[in-house]
Amino acid sequence: MQVNRPYQICSNCIMDTSDPSIQFDELGECNYCQNFKSSILPNWTINQGSEVELMTLASKIRKDGKGKDFDCIIGISGGLDSSYAAYIAKTKMGLRPLLVHVDAGWNTAQAVSNIEKLVDGLELDLFTEVVDWEGVKSMQVAFLRSGIPDQDLVQDAAFFSALYKFARQYGIKHIIKGGNFSTECCREPEEWGGYLGIDKRLFDDIWNKFGNGRPIIFTLTDIFIYKFWYQIILGMKLHSPLNLVSYIKKDAEDELERLYGWQKFKHKHHESRFTRFYEDYWLPRRFGYQKRRAHFSSLIVTGQMTREQAIVRLLKPEMDEQFLSQEFEYVAHKLGLTTLELQNLFEIPLKTYRDYRNKRWVIGFGAKILRSIGLEKRYFK
Ligand SMILES: [Zn+2]
Repeated sequence: MQVNRPYQICSNCIMDTSDPSIQFDELGECNYCQNFKSSILPNWTINQGSEVELMTLASKIRKDGKGKDFDCIIGISGGLDSSYAAYIAKTKMGLRPLLVHVDAGWNTAQAVSNIEKLVDGLELDLFTEVVDWEGVKSMQVAFLRSGIPDQDLVQDAAFFSALYKFARQYGIKHIIKGGNFSTECCREPEEWGGYLGIDKRLFDDIWNKFGNGRPIIFTLTDIFIYKFWYQIILGMKLHSPLNLVSYIKKDAEDELERLYGWQKFKHKHHESRFTRFYEDYWLPRRFGYQKRRAHFSSLIVTGQMTREQAIVRLLKPEMDEQFLSQEFEYVAHKLGLTTLELQNLFEIPLKTYRDYRNKRWVIGFGAKILRSIGLEKRYFK
């Protein structure tokens, strides 16, 4: 990592030195583009046996689920990736998924409506886990006080924890994810608030320093529990079937709309009102990190957007200024803060997870081992 390096932007995508670890080759192409060409493309087998692979996976999951209420579980947010994964699981793979939606208090009406339409249209079972709002709220405020960029970890922890809880409860071995190369091949750098998993030590330290004094009433499943106990010992498997079908963002949106009346969002992650505010306001303005830079770069390298379109779109936020200032007030009040209190938190010194107790190095070490023995490929979270 270089400090105070001169500004540089990739000549192929739009990733730039706002990722402090980015590297460029002599042609000015970044390591995300190089990784796409050298590691992702050669393993991305659409139209070259992917149909067979999808059907083999489907029959294995169906076989493991014999005699059970469900053969797999899908966490559904109402956004495109998880919605399309549910659609593929049911219609193309012939699976019997349990859909789990976690309501952490920030659902947009559109997300709720999309989930209802999919559940009705696909005739699937849905469990909605409503997380204790007071617990989420006080943990989110503690995180804001910590000053770190990773402000979506609290919702992520709520989602992951509920998903694994249901999987265990119903004896489900297979987890279907919406993760995919097509819209996510350029991963959001860790520095931009993309901490590598649910780290209970980090949560505990932030809570001890900034929590409101009550015991933690927020249940979370630590990365060690879900990686090692659930996945390795209990044998739960994660699958990303969207990598085995043709998955073009615009086509997938149109298909879900035509078939089920599902409605597309203005941008990725806009199904949660907090995440939309966090990614469109908090993160770019407080830290200078634009997650859209990674989202658009994925679409550029996969031929779904031009570099010029992406650069123009980055010039302003997705939502207009008046809307964002209303959202600032909404978020403050929902978290039990005044707008002035939230503004003060916006202005506190910038921190990173390194300022708190964490086990990031053990997680990184574990990821390396899993990769070296072939248990993990591209994703680790
Ligand atoms: Zn690039």
